[in-house]
Amino acid sequence: MSRDSLTQDESAPQSEADRSFWHYRYKFPRKVEAAFQAEMDRMRERRIYKTGLTAVLLYSAFALTDPAMVPDAYQQAWAIRFLVVVPFLLLTTWFVYTLRRPFAREMLLSAALIVSGISMPWIAGLSRHPNAAHFQTGITLILLFGNIVLNLRFRSALITSLLMALMYGLTLTRFGALTPEVRFNNLLFCLAAVAISLIANFRMDQDQRRAYLARMREIERNDELSHAVELLAKISAEDGMTQIANRREFDRRLHLEWSRARRESKPVAIVIADVDFFKNYNDHYGHPAGDDCLKRIAAALRSVPKRPTDLVARFGGEEFAALLPGVAAEDAAAIAERMRQAIVDLQIPHAASRIGPGVTVSFGVAAMLPVAHEQPAELIAAADAALYRAKEQGRNRVSVYEEDQTVPMVRADY
Ligand code: GH3
Ligand code: MG
Ligand code: MG
Repeated sequence: MSRDSLTQDESAPQSEADRSFWHYRYKFPRKVEAAFQAEMDRMRERRIYKTGLTAVLLYSAFALTDPAMVPDAYQQAWAIRFLVVVPFLLLTTWFVYTLRRPFAREMLLSAALIVSGISMPWIAGLSRHPNAAHFQTGITLILLFGNIVLNLRFRSALITSLLMALMYGLTLTRFGALTPEVRFNNLLFCLAAVAISLIANFRMDQDQRRAYLARMREIERNDELSHAVELLAKISAEDGMTQIANRREFDRRLHLEWSRARRESKPVAIVIADVDFFKNYNDHYGHPAGDDCLKRIAAALRSVPKRPTDLVARFGGEEFAALLPGVAAEDAAAIAERMRQAIVDLQIPHAASRIGPGVTVSFGVAAMLPVAHEQPAELIAAADAALYRAKEQGRNRVSVYEEDQTVPMVRADY
């Protein structure tokens, strides 16, 4: 069910406590109602088999009392019970179990109740014994079973119950042995059973609706929560402006890959990129144009490394960094060279650059085997040193850190 159908429709019951039996708006809005009924049907479907067999057993058990209640007709009574009603109930249970259509199922269940109900006055009518007049007790039990145990939908329960009560009222007149007062009492007894079991049926329906609503709200809340968690994770890992990974994510992944590479004795390479004469770019074109330029650079840099474990991040300001796990220095240098070319290919005009007509980027590359080095900070410092050299040697180039190169002090933030 869609989230909208619950929250937008005002007719969904909000506070159930203040709605009385008579004023309760019986149904949910249409879409919710359909989903609710489908769930209830699934529940009934699971239960119907056992419930049906229990009903057959209970109904058959009363065959034991037939010789006492209808002594002059108990053989016919048994024939009615075991040759008509029980086979009908068993067949119905089987059909209801295999039938996937809720409406047909409700109709069949109602039919089963009415057939077992009719068997009572039928059996009683075959006998002239005064005990036979007590058959209202049987009808009452069948009513209770249908409305409370089978948990028919309220409307089917109402119609079935009234039909059975009517049937009982009509057949009651045939029992001359009963005084009018006793007849009235018996009819009242039957009607009371109808009322009581219908109230129970209605209340159960309301309880199920309340429980269903609570479950749906829980699901909704969980959905919202996981959505928020997802969003938070995205926000905390992404740089808002360039939409690539941020420094925090880069650090997290670097430490992760560093430990993995240490276990697997593999190298880790990083590339640090710094835009050339970017201060001049800002001064010449303005800060907003500078931002746009950084976005295009970020997208171009990110498109170069292809492995799923590679990561391109905004390292800070106009600096970017690429993490290349399992890559040796020369391969990292080749990737950095492709990145450099990708920026040149963008051909972003840079009138204030001292080295050419367009925006360029310088790259420092370093690769290390974590087993021989203590901290990922050393790798950063090495790439930084290489970048410094690239700048010194004229910018718009890739410089790879050499072991004999002096490493500047490890950055304060590492
Ligand atoms: P070099 O070639 O030596 O790297 O020269 P540079 O001008 O790029 O060096 P510097 O580090 O002095 O300048 C970096 C500039 O990048 C300064 C700062 O205004 C600009 N910058 C840093 N972050 C942003 C940003 O988010 N947006 C914009 N538009 N500019 C930024
Ligand atoms: Mg810089
Ligand atoms: Mg710069």
